Amino acid sequence: MRTVDLFVIGAGSGGVRAARIAAGYGARVIVAEEYRVGGTCVIRGCVPKKLLVYASRFSDAFTDAKGFGWELGARPSFDWASLIAAKNTEIDRLEGAYGATLDGAKVEVIRDRAVLETAKTVRLVGSGEIIRAETILIATGGAPLREAGFPGAELCITSNEAFDQPALPRRVAVVGGGYVALEFATIFSGLGAETTVVYRGPEILRGFDDEIRAHLRSEMMARGVKFRLNATIERLEKTPDGLSCTFAGGDVAMFDAVMLAIGRLPATQGLGLEKAGVALGPLGEVLVDHMSRTSVENIYAVGDVTDRIALTPVAIREGHAFADTVFGGRPTKVDHTTVATAVFAEPETAWVGLGEEQARAAHRVVDIYRARFRPMKATLSGRQTRTLMKIVVDGETDRVLGLGMVGADAGEIVQMAAVALTLGARKADLDATMALHPSAAEEFLTMRTRAERHVRD
Ligand code: NDP
Repeated sequence: MRTVDLFVIGAGSGGVRAARIAAGYGARVIVAEEYRVGGTCVIRGCVPKKLLVYASRFSDAFTDAKGFGWELGARPSFDWASLIAAKNTEIDRLEGAYGATLDGAKVEVIRDRAVLETAKTVRLVGSGEIIRAETILIATGGAPLREAGFPGAELCITSNEAFDQPALPRRVAVVGGGYVALEFATIFSGLGAETTVVYRGPEILRGFDDEIRAHLRSEMMARGVKFRLNATIERLEKTPDGLSCTFAGGDVAMFDAVMLAIGRLPATQGLGLEKAGVALGPLGEVLVDHMSRTSVENIYAVGDVTDRIALTPVAIREGHAFADTVFGGRPTKVDHTTVATAVFAEPETAWVGLGEEQARAAHRVVDIYRARFRPMKATLSGRQTRTLMKIVVDGETDRVLGLGMVGADAGEIVQMAAVALTLGARKADLDATMALHPSAAEEFLTMRTRAERHVRD
């Protein structure tokens, strides 16, 4: 029986980083991957999504160009098949690069499904080989939730299939009000599909700052995305004219595709975790401590499978910290606070730190600074759009608790603002920073007048 120091199950963001760093410390490492090297982010998540978001933004750019003197001649047309082929080429390239990185690090990659036999042995399902490992890392990620609880839900697609539809659906419903729903609604709508977001609650993006949520929705509506709020689907049926969708209350609408974007579940089924004694949480997530160690001493888990914060950079950081801790002799904890995040909708939306409601629940005095303005580009394009920027400050210490925006380049801007928050910036530090003009980002530095102060008794 072969023996390795580390066996990683899953070659996604967290698993690849952990394997490479551990091998750098001299560990003999095998990674097993049943699908494609790169994981959700590279193969069917962040990367292809962002490429499609770029594609979807051209429709606005063509419209806006006129105000800047451009005459585009014949109406631009869009070819879904070309976009998907180009996207596939890039994903293949990235998958190759991930593989080459692992090869270069002397990590063996086995294209097979691996399951735990015991706490120290792994079985490869295809070949039947059993491999012994001193340490096992579970980095299997997550998968889209498909159980939507209405008849006909099996007719829906998820983000897994959305990238590879044979054609752009003409009429699309996206169920859910989170990241995936809003990003795909942006893509479909920007590419020309009639798009409806079906969300069960009163406002999209639960958990985000309330003003940001409302502002994003109104901006998306201005760009033609329809929203059905407080809406649930009662049943979905296939008809010659497409999918007939009956909503609770009796309304019926026809779509060519209905996409479920109702969350993701940790991929832990059938891995043999229970047999090995690894404790799981209610969603099937692997329970870990602050060092990513499971209930079994030599088994660790990182990334989406642990259901901490389901973001690629977090998985990478967790994988790296695990390798430093276990193979590098440097115990390293991951700080899960102050994680910036963006929704690549149109307009882009990003936040770091506490939203107003969270801040008011946690702090006695909270000051709000806000700027709502017409972006410079809209002056000539004539587009009816407003950027919203907001800063949430602890009124007692002047510490910036959170900030974010809805507007062009929000992700890029908020990423850098996250540095300031990580360093413990005060509002006075933002005020003291010289602005870069003309930019939208400078508004975060020039909001001098407090919009509101909220004091809790
Ligand atoms: P989210 O948890 O963000 O959103 C799920 C949405 O579906 C919510 O609006 C939720 O409503 C709704 N929902 C849940 N269950 C049901 C149901 N049974 N019927 C109808 N609606 C339902 O999940 P996503 O899939 O959008 O994304 C998963 C995670 O992946 C995110 O949390 C994020 O961490 C990550 N991600 C990050 C991206 C980025 O950084 N840009 C992009 C994509 C994903 P409610 O709010 O009422 O619970």
